[in-house]
Amino acid sequence: MSKQKLITIIMPAMLFLIAGIFLFAFPDNKTDNSEPQYFVNRGFIFGTYYNIHYYAPQDLEQEILERLQRFDNSLSAFNPQSVISKVNNNVDTVTDSYFEHVFNLAEHISELSDGAFDLTVAPLVNVWGFGFDSRDKVSSAVIDSLLDIVGYRKVRLENHRVVKTDPRVKLDAGAIAKGYSCDVVAELLEQHHCNSYLVDIGGEIVCRGSNSNGEPWAIGIDKPIDDPTGTQHKLQAIVRAPHLALATSGNYRQFYYDNGVRRSHTIDPRTGYPVNHELLSASVVAPTCAEADALATACMVLGQDKAIELISGIADAECMLICANGNDSTIVMMTEGMKKYVNDSTSFAH
Ligand code: ADP
Ligand code: MG
Repeated sequence: MSKQKLITIIMPAMLFLIAGIFLFAFPDNKTDNSEPQYFVNRGFIFGTYYNIHYYAPQDLEQEILERLQRFDNSLSAFNPQSVISKVNNNVDTVTDSYFEHVFNLAEHISELSDGAFDLTVAPLVNVWGFGFDSRDKVSSAVIDSLLDIVGYRKVRLENHRVVKTDPRVKLDAGAIAKGYSCDVVAELLEQHHCNSYLVDIGGEIVCRGSNSNGEPWAIGIDKPIDDPTGTQHKLQAIVRAPHLALATSGNYRQFYYDNGVRRSHTIDPRTGYPVNHELLSASVVAPTCAEADALATACMVLGQDKAIELISGIADAECMLICANGNDSTIVMMTEGMKKYVNDSTSFAH
């Protein structure tokens, strides 16, 4: 066989072999070239649900879940191996970027809200029965002693470690982490060049672009109806925007009655007691969902008038508040800039 002929036989065979190895090593490569379509991923994470829609050439659920698992390993106080649990239990640990982002943003929101939002509220949340530790007997003496170990100035970050002024100080990221997890998923989708998506984790939302009908996403804000089961949904308003982060905090799902006194899961870190005022729910729009989530909780602590004052003073943040108005009726208050997102807030209100 001539040398020329041998090359013409061997070359195509080698090309086939290389192509085969390539396909074997990168099996997903083919799907990257598929036509984009709307995917919907639904399930449970961090004790709540996720409901994620996106327009992409491939299903990204595994990647999303891996990222959320990493997130859980950082910020879930219910996960004994997480960074936050180790910090709470005084186990020496190096902090990661998720933890540091939440810690620094939380400190900023604490300052803006005059201490209404505070990660160190954990011992109070626990004693009132809404936290990662079991509920305890409450008395004014107990609350007074816990107030000694609550306050965002009692912790700081130094060289990727948390330094506490007292080892009993504990952190609870429950009012900011859900929102931040939406940002984390949105960031992943952006890395995959998705520009139409809606990420809903436990009711906190980040959305961009349009839905499968080509319309901007429409997000329902629930009426604050007392419902510990979390199964009743009646709409108070619909929010629409091409790109938005929105979080809602309320006291109508997580509460109990103690000798006739209503105890809700939003605790004022300055008094040590669950808040009890006419503000039933606060929905906040902000550049990121982590900020929206923390600010919504701050609003719930502050009450309607101070909440409007707080949010009006923050560029790019808006809010809609639903307040009790006696006789089972409610009134809706919102910052001026919120009106462009909300249609129908009164057509649903009765
Ligand atoms: P929702 O569950 O309605 O989204 P939030 O975002 O307000 O509510 O989170 C409520 C949780 O935040 C509580 O269960 C508790 O763990 C924690 N928390 C309560 N009060 C405060 C506070 N003042 N600052 C920070 N976190 C709080
Ligand atoms: Mg919150």
